Amino acid sequence: MLRIVHAFVSLEQHLRAIVTTPQSYHPGRCPHCGRTCLWAHGFYERKADRSEGGTLNSVPVPRYCCAACRRTCSRLPLCICPLRWYGWALQQLVFALIFVGMSLRCTAAVAGVDRRTVRRWWGWLLRRSDDFAFALRSRFPELGRTADTAAFWCACLALMPLCQAMAWLDLDGLDVP
Ligand SMILES: [Zn+2]
Repeated sequence: MLRIVHAFVSLEQHLRAIVTTPQSYHPGRCPHCGRTCLWAHGFYERKADRSEGGTLNSVPVPRYCCAACRRTCSRLPLCICPLRWYGWALQQLVFALIFVGMSLRCTAAVAGVDRRTVRRWWGWLLRRSDDFAFALRSRFPELGRTADTAAFWCACLALMPLCQAMAWLDLDGLDVP
């Protein structure tokens, strides 16, 4: 889907990069028609800073328009989750706590996230893990065989942060929230 740029793990880096190296966001080809005639098409604003006060909000996200099909697309840095309000880093913490055996209730309390949200994220990861593991192993054979879902994700997260894994899956056309 090319939605995620493989860079900029913090909002500060993102805000600096859209000014100093805007070309690093350019998708190269249109995610809709595959042509390469995309031009910069301004920004849309979204909330992404969950720190107290949220002083970095609203965060601009670069948009592009395709000269061939006239459709637009946008590119997100690694620090912003396309469809979730919480960032990948917090989701990774939640999964890590569950993998070491913490209950969903405790995990929610420790991470400061609503228990229903934790349950939804966890259900999503379990449902999608087979497809995600297949795609990630194709790219990273060193992930090799693992005994179960938890073992796979422990190996994966030792190799790269969740945001990076999701960026690869997004690039492979898998549905990433
Ligand atoms: Zn196009």
